Amino acid sequence: MAGMSPEKLAEVKERLLDRKRRLWQEVKQQLKSNIGDGYQEMLAAARDEEDQATVSLMAETNLTLLGPKRQELEAIEEAMNRIESGNYGYCEVCGLSIEPRRLEIMPEAPLCRNCMSHREKLAKATAR
Ligand SMILES: [Zn+2]
Repeated sequence: MAGMSPEKLAEVKERLLDRKRRLWQEVKQQLKSNIGDGYQEMLAAARDEEDQATVSLMAETNLTLLGPKRQELEAIEEAMNRIESGNYGYCEVCGLSIEPRRLEIMPEAPLCRNCMSHREKLAKATAR
C-alpha cells in the first residue's frame, strides 16, 4: 500500500472525528458523575469538546476510569496528525504499511500487528 487515496484518507478522518466526538461525550458524562462541585462549574464553562478546560480537567481528576478513553483520544489525535503529515497508515516503529484490514477495525492504530503484539508483550512484562 503505497499511500492511501485522498478519498480514503478523508473517510478515515471522518471516522476518527466521529469516534473522537463520541469519546469526548463519554468522558464528559463520566466527569459529570464523578467530580466534585468545584469542577462542575469548570466543566459547564467548557463549551466545546476540545476546550482546554476539559482537557486539563481530565488531566487533573486523574480518574482511573478515564484512563483507557484518554489513551484512545490521544491515539486518535495522533492518527489525525499523521494524516496531516502524510504518514498515516505506516507503522511508527518499523515504518512498514499497517495492514489495511487492521486499519478498518482500528483506524487510529499507530503500529503494525507485529510491533503492536511486541509492545503488548513488553507492557505486560513491565507492568507492576
Ligand atoms: Zn511495525
